[in-house]
Amino acid sequence: MYIKDRPFYSPQASVPTGQAMNFNICPSPSSEIIYPWTPIEEMEKTDYDVIIVGTGAGGGSVLWRLAEQWGENGKRIGVIEAGDYILPANKFDLPNWLPLWANVQPPNPLYWESIPIYPSDRSTPPSPLLTSFEQLLALGGRSIEWGMVSPRMTPVDLAGWPVSHKEMNMYYNIAEEIMNVNTSYYRTADFLLNRLRQNGFPEAGNKPVAINIRPTTLGEYRSTPPRFSTISMLADAASRRPFDIAIKTRAVQVYTERGKAVGLKVMDRDKKAYFLKTKAVVLAASTFETPRILLNSGIRGEAIGHYLTSHSFAYTTAKVAPGDYPQIPGLYAVYVPRTIDRLYQMQMRGFPPHGHEFDILSLGVVESRYENRVVLNSLKVDEYGVPESVALFSFSDTDLEVMRQMEQGMKQAAEAMKVTLDPICMLPLGLVMHDMGTCRIGTDPSTSAANPYGQIHGISGLYVAGSSMIPTSGAANPFLTTAALSIRTADYIIEQLQ
Ligand SMILES: Cc1cc2nc3c(=O)[nH]c(=O)nc-3n(C[C@H](O)[C@H](O)[C@H](O)COP(=O)(O)OP(=O)(O)OC[C@H]3O[C@@H](n4cnc5c(N)ncnc54)[C@H](O)[C@@H]3O)c2cc1C
Repeated sequence: MYIKDRPFYSPQASVPTGQAMNFNICPSPSSEIIYPWTPIEEMEKTDYDVIIVGTGAGGGSVLWRLAEQWGENGKRIGVIEAGDYILPANKFDLPNWLPLWANVQPPNPLYWESIPIYPSDRSTPPSPLLTSFEQLLALGGRSIEWGMVSPRMTPVDLAGWPVSHKEMNMYYNIAEEIMNVNTSYYRTADFLLNRLRQNGFPEAGNKPVAINIRPTTLGEYRSTPPRFSTISMLADAASRRPFDIAIKTRAVQVYTERGKAVGLKVMDRDKKAYFLKTKAVVLAASTFETPRILLNSGIRGEAIGHYLTSHSFAYTTAKVAPGDYPQIPGLYAVYVPRTIDRLYQMQMRGFPPHGHEFDILSLGVVESRYENRVVLNSLKVDEYGVPESVALFSFSDTDLEVMRQMEQGMKQAAEAMKVTLDPICMLPLGLVMHDMGTCRIGTDPSTSAANPYGQIHGISGLYVAGSSMIPTSGAANPFLTTAALSIRTADYIIEQLQ
């Protein structure tokens, strides 16, 4: 990525050799040179217009939109990221990501934090489907780890949202453009699509993914390889205007005065505290950390931390009968959206060299219920002095019924495609990684944490972005919707700070 005024090798930082031929030695390129990290001591001296916490789908989108709309207008933007600079892009862009990253069970504790789950309904016994949620701390958030599947929510999913379809469509268009969402990356699997469409699944189509398949034109500089992560949003923002960004720095508390956000307490990894002054704070620190910071700041709201939701996730492998596979083996993927009667979506993915086998997965709607929530455990305080969070979650009868229907639906789809299925299994909820809803937007402060644009009810200058703001789960993978809503929040902030 090109950062203005920051050459890759900095002559000022070079050191004389001290030998006869007194050449300067270039310092090794480091992440500091690639990215202009700002010392937190310097950030403490600045009066910010906006501070964004987190650089995942929510934080990356807000930063990108502010930079794109504001350009170099003199407003001061600061970004606080608890994680480290681990990957320069999405892990799939790196041939050697596995040893470094290793998304194996259990997740690498260097980067992942676990949030234990206890039943919210005490009458339900503990379930292996409900063990713990996992939260990633890294520059780029989960976008450096995600699978890039980027469908829009359907109109049925959006029912009851405080945003009109027309407006959602506009923000989906913007998010799809910056994320390079397209349906042409995977090969069209005619042999599956035709059978699905003719046998009860007319909505089946190619899977939308956030991958830049546009050829590189002469002289063009690409900030990242083709699979999208928010690192490319940070790069785009940096090419448009300056902003300050501190990594390995954790936001722990928001300060408010007379119903207005005025600052943020952050701590470095030596647990030294700093106080940042700002007109606006955007918390985009994930479904678990955003309500945790709010609750730790004494900010009360009937819905803060509540309505925790995600998707149920069923998986199996399908086998195509020998001689019934008209295509050359190759990457192909099918997406079957949810409908008014079907509360789940399905995806089929085939990869070489498994030409006669492909994956089928299904994601189901999980109800948004007040009792499913994130709470602080005041008996257990972390090394930053913040009470740890605990998730209280139980599936409702409707959720369990949707899971049964998902199994049935996968079997019907298999019949339609003329394939046989291995046994279907359910993924534990915490490993689905589609957590949402703990600071949902809405008009009623008793059922939503923030107004329709992400401003915490009753506190000006305090905003949420990211997956926590999503009102209800729908069945579509959440990243694109998270980006669209967060871009919309940035537009609202721009209006408020005029
Ligand atoms: C393996 C995997 C596959 C996935 N596949 C898909 C997919 O195909 N399609 C899809 O739509 N979704 C997918 N997702 C889900 C998607 O990545 C998330 O929904 C999305 O990233 C959530 O965005 P967010 O900004 O709310 O949170 P995150 O992306 O988690 O970002 C939170 C950010 O806040 C930072 N942070 C946390 N606490 C603090 C603090 N106290 N102070 C400062 N910074 C802090 C974190 O380091 C991080 O940068 C996948 C996720 C995973 C892990």
